[in-house]
Parts: sequence; C-alpha cells; structure tokens
Amino acid sequence: MKSKRRHSLADDDFESSKNQNVTNVSNKRFNKKQRKNFDLEIHNVAQRLKEFRKELPIWKEREKLVQTVKENETIIVIGEMGSGKSTQTPQFLLEAGLISNGAIALTQPRRVAAISLAKRVANEIGTKLGHRVGYSVRFDDTSSQSTVIKYLTDGMLLRELLSDPLLLKYCVIILDEAHERTMRTDILFGMIKRVQDARKNDKSCNPLKVIIMSATLNAQKFASYFNTTTILQIPGRQFPVSVNYSFVAQPDYLDAAFTTSTQIHTNQPPGDILVFLPGQEDIEILEKLITEYGTTLPPDKLKIITCLLFAALPTEQQTKVFDPSPPGTRKIILATNIAETSITINGVRYVVDTGKCKMRKFNSRVGMESLSIENISKDSADQRMGRAGREAPGFCHRLYTEEEYNKMEKNTEPEIKRCNLASIILLLKAFGIDNVLEFDYLDAPSRSLLKRALEQLFILKALNNQGKITDLGRKMSEFPLEPAYAKVLIASEQMSCTREVINIVSLLSVDSIFFSPQDQRDQALDMKKKFISPLGDLITYLNLLRSYETHKGDLDWCKQNFVNKRNMKHVINVRKQLIQLCTRMNISPTTTCDEDYELLLKCMLCGFFRNSAILQPGNNGYKTVGNNQVVNIHPSSTLFNKKNEAVMYTELVLTSKPYMKNVSVIQSSWLVGISSNLLE
Ligand code: ADP
Ligand code: MG
Repeated sequence: MKSKRRHSLADDDFESSKNQNVTNVSNKRFNKKQRKNFDLEIHNVAQRLKEFRKELPIWKEREKLVQTVKENETIIVIGEMGSGKSTQTPQFLLEAGLISNGAIALTQPRRVAAISLAKRVANEIGTKLGHRVGYSVRFDDTSSQSTVIKYLTDGMLLRELLSDPLLLKYCVIILDEAHERTMRTDILFGMIKRVQDARKNDKSCNPLKVIIMSATLNAQKFASYFNTTTILQIPGRQFPVSVNYSFVAQPDYLDAAFTTSTQIHTNQPPGDILVFLPGQEDIEILEKLITEYGTTLPPDKLKIITCLLFAALPTEQQTKVFDPSPPGTRKIILATNIAETSITINGVRYVVDTGKCKMRKFNSRVGMESLSIENISKDSADQRMGRAGREAPGFCHRLYTEEEYNKMEKNTEPEIKRCNLASIILLLKAFGIDNVLEFDYLDAPSRSLLKRALEQLFILKALNNQGKITDLGRKMSEFPLEPAYAKVLIASEQMSCTREVINIVSLLSVDSIFFSPQDQRDQALDMKKKFISPLGDLITYLNLLRSYETHKGDLDWCKQNFVNKRNMKHVINVRKQLIQLCTRMNISPTTTCDEDYELLLKCMLCGFFRNSAILQPGNNGYKTVGNNQVVNIHPSSTLFNKKNEAVMYTELVLTSKPYMKNVSVIQSSWLVGISSNLLE
C-alpha cells in the first residue's frame, strides 16, 4: 500500500487564481475597435456551439425537463455521462424564463470540473466568464452581481451558508455528481433540505427548487431522502464496449498500463486512449515513458500526444484535454478518476483501466488518516468502461482478472463513513447545529468517527466542554482548511510567524516537492542533502522553497535538484491564495520569525499537539502523546534513523507499520507549556 501526503487542506485542491478568458483573448484593456472584435468573436463561438448543443441527447428532453422543474420542488435527473446534464440544464431553465428571482447554483465535488464547466457554458451562452456565467472555487471567485449561472464546488456552497443561511441569492440549486458522495456533498444534501423547508415556511422568501443530478445513482434512495417521486431519465447514447480482462493478476499496474497503451497504439485503428491511474505521481511517470516511446515511432506511423488530467494540474493545462487530436496523431489521456464522471472528453475509443484509485480513510480507533491506493468498486469500473463507447463502439482493457473484478465492492463507501469528520463537524456547529448526532444524514457516520471529531475539536479549543462552538472555533470555521491548520494559522499571529506558517501549509498542499526517480535515487538523495535541516522535514521544505525562489523557479535548477517544478508552481499559487485569505481575516501575512524556528515549531504544536511523539527507551520507536501508540519515522523523512527525544508530525500513515511523515524535532518540555495552555 502506497501512501501520499496532502492532508493539510480541506478541499480536494488549490489552484491558480488566474481567470482564463472565454476565447483565448486575454483580459487586457481594449480600445473600442478591439472590444467590438472581441464581442463579435464571443458571439461567433456561441453560434458555432449552438449546433453542437442541439446534438446532445438532453436537447430533445428540453421541454419535458423545464416543465418538470416548473411543476415540482425537487427532482432527480439521471443521464449517461456526456448527455449534457451539467452544461445544458441551467441554460434550459434560463432560456425558459424560470430564473427571474435569483441565480442558479450548480455544485461539483471537484474544482477542475466547476471551472471547466463554467468556461464551457460562458462560451455557449456567448458571455465573458464572470459575467452571466461564473464559478466559485476555493480562493478563486469569478462570479459577479450579474452572474445567473454559477458553478461552484460543494465546499464553497457550504461556506456560503455561513454568511447567507437561507441561500437567498439562489432560486435553483443543482446538486450535481451526487453519486460521488463526498463528505461535503453529503452534508450539503442535509443542509439544502433544511433551507428548502425553511424557505417554504417563510412566506417572505421565494421557494427554492432543488435538482439532484448524476450519471449513476441509486435514485430510489435519493428520492425517498428528498421526499420526491419525480425522477427524470435522460435517454443516453451508449455504444457497446468490448471488455478484455488480464489473464493473470498484474504485479505492477504502471508497467501493465504502459505495455497495453503502446500495444493499442501499434495494433489498433485510430481513436484516443484514456488511461485511468490512481494519482499524479503515476501519471507523471507514465507520461515520461510514453513520450519516450513516441520518439521511437517510425515517421509513417500515427504520432502520439499525451494529455494529463488530475486535480492539481494548473487550469491552463486542464483545458488542453478538450482539444481534438490534430490529424495524424493519437491522444493518450492519462487521468485520475476525475475522468470517470466529472469531465467528459470526446474522441475516446479505448479505455485502459488499472482498477486503482486513491482513497482517504480514517481509522477512528487510532486516529490515523491515510490516503492510499485501493481497488475501485464495480460501479467505478463500469463507469470507466463506458467512457470508451460514447461516440462509437469501443474497447476497455481491464488490467485485472475477471475474478478480481468479481471480488470488487459494488459501490465505493461514502466518505462520511470513512474520513476524518472534524472539519465538517466544525462547520455544522458553526451553522448552529449543536446536536450533530441527530443531523439528517443520508447515511449517518459511525458514532466512533463522530466522537473522534468532537474530541479533536475540543482539544483544539474550537468547542467548549459543553460541545458548543467557541469564538476561536467560529474563526477557525471561516478558514477553508483542516481545523488543525486553521488553528496554527490563527496562532501564528501571536507567535509572529505567519509568513513561515503560510509557506509550510502551501508546501504541504502537494503530494511531493522532490522527484525521486527509481534509477537515480542516490543522486536525488545527494542533491536533497543541501536543503536538509537537523530540525527535520518542515524546515527542510522551507530551505528548499527559499532556494527555489532565489533561483526564480528556474527549470534547469529544478531538474538538477530533483525538484518537482509543477508542484512547486502549485505551492506558490496556494501561497498567494493563503496570503489573500489571511489579509481578509485581518492576519498580517508578512509577520515573520525569520529563522527563529523554535517559535515556528511551537506554533505548529498549537494545532498538532496530539501529533507529537516521545522516543522510547531501547530501540522501540516513539509513542504518541495523543494516544500512546507506538509509531516510527517514515523512511522518506530526513529524520529517519535519527534519534530525538521528541518529535512532531503532520501525518501518520499505515503501511506495514504506522509511520510518521513530515517530522520535526521538538523538545518534550514544550509540550508541558502547550498542554497547560490547551487545557486552560
Ligand atoms: P454530462 O453532465 O451529462 O456528463 P456535460 O454537460 O458535462 O455532460 O457535457 C456535454 C458535452 O459537452 C460533452 O460532450 C463534453 O465533451 C462537452 N464539454 C463539456 N465541457 C466542455 C469543455 N470545457 N470543453 C469542451 N467540451 C466540453
Ligand atoms: Mg456532468
């Protein structure tokens, strides 16, 4: 089982705050003539897309859909992926004149999808992004007063409830990709039900229409939860897909994915290939291998271009997957499960499915969260297969045996049953829901998960001993970060190290800042040495960031030092956004402790007190302060094989043993001060 770090942040991802314009014309100031040309171009794009819209399966259902929404408060819409649900539904309602008293909100579990949908729909309507169509994802809001169709992540709509408890600016809320069952979507279901009820009972409010949408959904379950019987099925367009299983179990899915994709390229007629991989790291390795393979192809063969699709990919690169492959080339798309239902890519005829995805799991008994590579469910496998048959008959190569498929779970377990609930419980408390046990969950979390979350929030002083939210808790809830990080950021003001904390939170937002290629492990380790601080990983990351900035993110420098340039760019973006956030929250982002790292580590302890561990006598590893559990330092840590009296970590992962990651040296005497402060 592999494990990745990237736990610091509550949303699935941070991203560039740079808005892209609808056509590739940049958002600079225009003179009159340029403005006219620009408007004309937008208009022409919309005209062209109109023909495309008419071909979508949902187009024929237009009137029925509008009528059903008119007649019902809550409806469920189910339709094959690519049928046009996410892009067309809001436009139909708008065109039918249903939207006069507020805007339409459409939620997505993933920010990538929210952004790409908003851009597409702005193009289709013929408006500039941010005018009538906009998006709002964490730290990046392009919507304005005139926005009538707003795409947002489920997390953002939840946050809007903090300032607008009845969501009065919306008259229709569309909860899209409902089957994904993220923790935030699940909580949103319950909250939207409450809002709808409250607005119904208050004659001064306009009623709220709710639409629940999905490609694959247990519609009955949702129908009874939302007290509706109205289920609209959009007839799909799906061609047969022939499925191939591996004869034997594959020991190395990456190797198998490479072999299969290149075999398809050599032996099969044109058509793009979509490869499903668990995460960014695998995607980047495979990209390299395929690109190298591409250079060995004879000139008379189809050329290969690769396209990547994962959550942390910068926006400019995400949109590239939609470009059709140029003549004489075959596109190979390397994607995470984003391409399963969130984003439809045209032109795919072949699917290569590793059968793996990254999954977050929380073990409430030991308080350990892990992000590990797991087998997908049967539903996911079938959804992946379907991607090959959208436009013509297709082929799906499953890199696992039929027997392995039969052993897969039917569905993926909803996040609320397996993740750390602290951030979501803090939000519920901030909404004034004191009895979180009795909240109307679609699927209730286990008592032990709830208890863990409440305990953690109490220790962070976000809740008092009656379980009520404190002023600090309220402030923490306004940060779209995991509670421990929000607490550290708030504490950093008093401890004069906000700048360093912002840097650390940003650095921890990516999988990894170092590259460690299999065949150059030793060289990579050698280069890493110059950044290493005896105080451990966090300060080592800070050293690297400083050096990166001195060299202005130079590509050669990154290569030489085995630094992941893409991820570092991401870090810089996240930092920009955190700086804005702190400024908004009246925390000066420039307060610095310079190199007084003792102060910085003490500040980190305010949030990670329970994540400290004391060295045991003999060679027996460390024991956590939180719950006396024996843990070890992860081999990837700069403190591996080093003995320090006490350490603090930001993440615990479970592989063969429990391992601490992102480890720093602390002194046990600090813990006394912190613990009395925490319990005061
Ligand atoms: P659904 O929600 O039913 O899965 P969508 O409304 O997202 O379908 O997509 C309908 C069609 O629009 C798809 O064929 C898709 O390829 C295309 N499309 C959606 N977003 C974009 C985009 N950003 N760029 C290009 N094409 C897009
Ligand atoms: Mg959709």
